[in-house]
Amino acid sequence: MLLVLTAALVFQAAVVQRPKFYRVFRLSFLTVTLVWLGWYAGGQLSVVNVLTFSHALMSDFNWDFFLIEPLIFILWSYVAVALLFLRRGVYCGWLCPFGALQELLSEVAHRLHIPQLSVPFAVHERLWPIKYIIFLGLFAVSLGSTTMAFYGAEVEPFKTVILLHFVRAWPFVLYAGGLLVAGLFINRFFCRYLCPLGAALAIPARLRMFEWLKRRPQCGRECQICFNRCPVQAIHPEGPINPNECIHCLQCQAIYIDDMTCPPLVAKRKRRERRDALSAGTSVAMEER
Ligand code: SF4
Ligand code: SF4
Repeated sequence: MLLVLTAALVFQAAVVQRPKFYRVFRLSFLTVTLVWLGWYAGGQLSVVNVLTFSHALMSDFNWDFFLIEPLIFILWSYVAVALLFLRRGVYCGWLCPFGALQELLSEVAHRLHIPQLSVPFAVHERLWPIKYIIFLGLFAVSLGSTTMAFYGAEVEPFKTVILLHFVRAWPFVLYAGGLLVAGLFINRFFCRYLCPLGAALAIPARLRMFEWLKRRPQCGRECQICFNRCPVQAIHPEGPINPNECIHCLQCQAIYIDDMTCPPLVAKRKRRERRDALSAGTSVAMEER
């Protein structure tokens, strides 16, 4: 999975060039992430791992402890390297089983024509810090008592949904179900506003070494298509992408190269077509003469 994902991200321009392939690839990958990585193999990272790692760094660091769960160790190693290059989106957008579940349910909601709530950007901007507050709160609590912090980490529904397959006391199931229902109306509701792991992964995002997502000078100024279509509202109305919110789904990159959608490319295509039509008309006229 990690090799396929790495290849897809390295050759992302080729992946998004074929819109149908991109959609099938993305939905298939997310299905494998949910069913195999999450439900079957239990490969769900958690803010608990972040808190444990931070405490290990502050006390006696012991690799043995982290090698107890090889799959989680491999995932974290991959995510740590990916964070340097590609921000949190590699995990949140492709490898998080709960994120995948929300996105797949949102896909079903779209197909069933369930109305989608569009959160005004000014409100959205004020809501997204909640997840950072939750993460910092958990971190602060963990300094006093890791047990209390681990209880607080139940704000993540991962254990209920992914690791225990909903077989749990009803308050947990109700909470997780509520988040999934909210996600039917606002895509990735939990990721956007509440996930402390998403917040923890977003913090080192500023360290990234490369800018992988392309934008045009017209983005935000003359055109709002990507702003309107980004599934998690990670694009500012003025054009720039917020690296802390982006899940690297590549949707805006598919639009970026689509000469049927992206206005500068549409204009270029139309100019080319007019030119071709003119030159075809001229040659027909010359042949007739
Ligand atoms: S924000 Fe949280 S739930 Fe969403 S994809 Fe990232 S880690 Fe998973
Ligand atoms: S559409 Fe673009 S900006 Fe929005 S999450 Fe996907 S890759 Fe990031």
